[in-house]
Amino acid sequence: MIQDVARRIAQERIAPSAESFDRSGEFPLENIRLLGENGLMGIEVPTEYGGAGLDPVSYVLAMVEIAAGDAAHSTIMSVNNSLFCNGILTHGTEAQKQTYVRAIAEGREIGAFALTEPQSGSDATSMRCRAVRQDDGRFVVNGKKSWITSGPVARYIVLFATTDPAQGARGITAFLVDTQREGFHRGKTEPKLGIRASATCEIEFQDYVVQADEVLGEVGQGFRIAMGVLDAGRIGIASQAVGIARAAFEATVAYVKERKAFGQPIGAFQMTQAKIADMKCKLDASLLLTLRAAWLKGQGKRFTNEASIAKLTASEAAMWIAHQAVQIHGGMGYSKEMPVERYFRDAKITEIYEGTSEIQRLVIARNETGLR
Ligand SMILES: Cc1cc2nc3c(=O)[nH]c(=O)nc-3n(C[C@H](O)[C@H](O)[C@H](O)COP(=O)(O)OP(=O)(O)OC[C@H]3O[C@@H](n4cnc5c(N)ncnc54)[C@H](O)[C@@H]3O)c2cc1C
Repeated sequence: MIQDVARRIAQERIAPSAESFDRSGEFPLENIRLLGENGLMGIEVPTEYGGAGLDPVSYVLAMVEIAAGDAAHSTIMSVNNSLFCNGILTHGTEAQKQTYVRAIAEGREIGAFALTEPQSGSDATSMRCRAVRQDDGRFVVNGKKSWITSGPVARYIVLFATTDPAQGARGITAFLVDTQREGFHRGKTEPKLGIRASATCEIEFQDYVVQADEVLGEVGQGFRIAMGVLDAGRIGIASQAVGIARAAFEATVAYVKERKAFGQPIGAFQMTQAKIADMKCKLDASLLLTLRAAWLKGQGKRFTNEASIAKLTASEAAMWIAHQAVQIHGGMGYSKEMPVERYFRDAKITEIYEGTSEIQRLVIARNETGLR
């Protein structure tokens, strides 16, 4: 049912407007509200906190559909679901869940996740954003975060800052931020290669005050929370990659039957057929690996390695499939008149955020060898 709902919205509402959102870079607020009203902004969030109360496999099925409609929409959806709601559901207090998760899961507000800084991405423990505890238990935050998805529009943010730089990873704490308070500033929206309607910006904290009850989890537990949230987030990005790849594949299959050269459909050439076969194999393998990771998560089993395997495989497959799609479309593949040009640009981000492909390889190899 959730797949049907997501597919209907993706095909009827999102796909037809994807090109214009890509061109304008406008944030698709109305569509995001619609996704929220249909339970797609908090798929794994229990119904008592405004979510759909479903499992990780449902999340994958819905994400694939929305990403096939438009990748930028699925980026916003994945941050709300995986990076924002997931961490608060796992580590938050009852009051935090009611305040922060409900608004995002219902699609009334937008959430964001702020880990990366101008000088630290993959090496997140070298963050400089600093939160200093006051005598009354409150924290004062100063520093910058960069590349924050939905930063330009988010109401609430899960923020990671160092409370004890000498402790490295163990000195990082997670906080819940309300962007309507004093001391919070947004930078300019980044002009991007792809997922252009997903607004991204730098954010800055200048003496922003966090109340004691706005700490997420324990002081010093932030890095562990971030890594756990990113494990789950990678299932979302793998699903996004599968969705982009599927859209590129389907557009290509339709094109090779229609376009003729040397008196026959280009799909009849063996070289094209080999490409179609390889695209399909990579697409199916990616989907199945993503479902495996989601199923393990749903069973309460360890899934860190499987999430990295799914994200690495699906993101590289999406890039490869979109590349073939452009090639098979010939000159038309290079034109903004056809969607494959957008799929090609959108696919690239899946190899970068929530851990680059190099970082996924590192995670997988460490899991397999036990060596660090
Ligand atoms: C559109 C977009 C949206 C984003 N959204 C968010 C968000 O919402 N919240 C957030 O916190 N962040 C976000 N990010 C940041 C993203 O997660 C980082 O860009 C990513 O983790 C890589 O970090 P970096 O850009 O600093 O690259 P670097 O860490 O500087 O890496 C540069 C290159 O070095 C390689 N490298 C680094 N370390 C190693 C190593 N140990 N071994 C081998 N190779 C290595 C990398 O793989 C990469 O190829 C977003 C980024 C983009 C582009």
